[in-house]
Amino acid sequence: MPFEFQGKHVTVAGLGVSGVPAAKVLHGLGARVTVVNDGADERARAQAVELEALGITVRLGDGDTLPDGTELIVTAPGWKPTKPLFTAAGQAGVPVWGDVELAWRLRRPDSAPWLAVTGTNGKTTTVQMLASILKAAGLRTAAVGNIGVSLLDAVTGDEEYDVLAVELSSYQLHWAPSLRAHSAAVLNLAPDHLDWHGSMEAYAADKGRIYEGNHVACVYNVADKATEDLVREADVEEGCRAIGFTLGSPAPSQLGVVDGILVDRAFVENRHKNAQELAEVSDVNPPAPHNIANALAAAALARAFGVPAAAVRDGLRAFTPDAHRIAHVADVDGVAYVDDSKATNTHATEASLAAYESIVWIAGGLAKGATFDELVAGAAKRLRGAVLIGADRALIREALTRHAPEVPVVDLDRTDTGAMLQAVQEARRLARPGDTVLLAPACASMDMFTNYNQRGDAFARAVRELGA
Ligand code: ADP
Repeated sequence: MPFEFQGKHVTVAGLGVSGVPAAKVLHGLGARVTVVNDGADERARAQAVELEALGITVRLGDGDTLPDGTELIVTAPGWKPTKPLFTAAGQAGVPVWGDVELAWRLRRPDSAPWLAVTGTNGKTTTVQMLASILKAAGLRTAAVGNIGVSLLDAVTGDEEYDVLAVELSSYQLHWAPSLRAHSAAVLNLAPDHLDWHGSMEAYAADKGRIYEGNHVACVYNVADKATEDLVREADVEEGCRAIGFTLGSPAPSQLGVVDGILVDRAFVENRHKNAQELAEVSDVNPPAPHNIANALAAAALARAFGVPAAAVRDGLRAFTPDAHRIAHVADVDGVAYVDDSKATNTHATEASLAAYESIVWIAGGLAKGATFDELVAGAAKRLRGAVLIGADRALIREALTRHAPEVPVVDLDRTDTGAMLQAVQEARRLARPGDTVLLAPACASMDMFTNYNQRGDAFARAVRELGA
């Protein structure tokens, strides 16, 4: 049953990237919209003026009180489920939707199916690879969700699509109860955002929501059993298949790698005997192990949608990764400087550290409840040295003391704009020719920077100053 918005009192929780467009769309559909927002800074006040001019009510500085008469809440995905607003909504029997649920409900009946991707790491890369493959197959598509085009724009705008490549975060999935994708992939599952979800179980359950009601394929990571468990627990459409991806040789119903070739043993005739060559490992950019896994997941979703093998190869060749994801900045005095500022958690950093032999590691920032023992113990042999920055650097230092006591550590107790320059200078001092200085912080950046982009840019600037 389509939801009737006309005359409904909808409360939009949170101004900002998703809140403002959601409020406008709902207002346009005839809903009575109230926006509530915790803060009342200059930006929020400007947004409020814009929305009030349309006839939308905005309450700044109080995101915790449920407005009287609310029949539906549409929340910004980042708002914690434990917020008093949601407790009040639960008590009053008011449903809560996130931006993804809203977009899902507003789709036109004949609108493009969704190929959805989640996971702790690799979402953006995989969705962009997927969109590139779909385009190579001549399909009208876009990478949407956390990246590029907003989902709301994609489903309500004039542009026509054949299929959408959708990136979904665990927050978005938490608030998207009725989403039913054509096919979906969970790339991996490692502890992240546990402060938001409350526990690893709750985090996994939210990620697993992506498989609910899938029509054609649930794509999982053979090397990460937790993702396969989520497929098993999901309630899917009759005939929907579980498809694994692996860096090893693929079993039937899997995609994998044989002698440097990406092969498909899932979407082929007689998969017990046959395999289809898709692309070469060297077609994947960069061909680091975790990125080959991303390419296989993207290929699995594309193949589930019926894309021919040649388009997988062409799409992978046409793909270039976004900035700050294992980006080679420069070589200075025989030392490579690599920016993986996007490695904001230990799982991503583990993949990053695994890609180099001898590393001076720049790390630190906001730990978000993470522990570093496993990461440091696994990488200890490859560490030439470490330079620590940011609020939670002591946690990493303690892990280094426990698991890599011989590795020299420089602990930078400053957060001003010159901190990254000093970090890079210290790293240079520790590095020897042939080493890699790797910014892979394993932490969020907001204690010192606006976001990971700014952190990566500061690193690249500092490296260029070294070379000058
Ligand atoms: P997300 O959108 O999930 O944050 P990105 O594609 O932006 O993912 O990559 C985020 C970080 O994770 C990067 O630092 C990258 O090096 C690392 N990464 C990418 N893919 C994987 C993977 N499959 N496993 C582990 N780490 C990965």
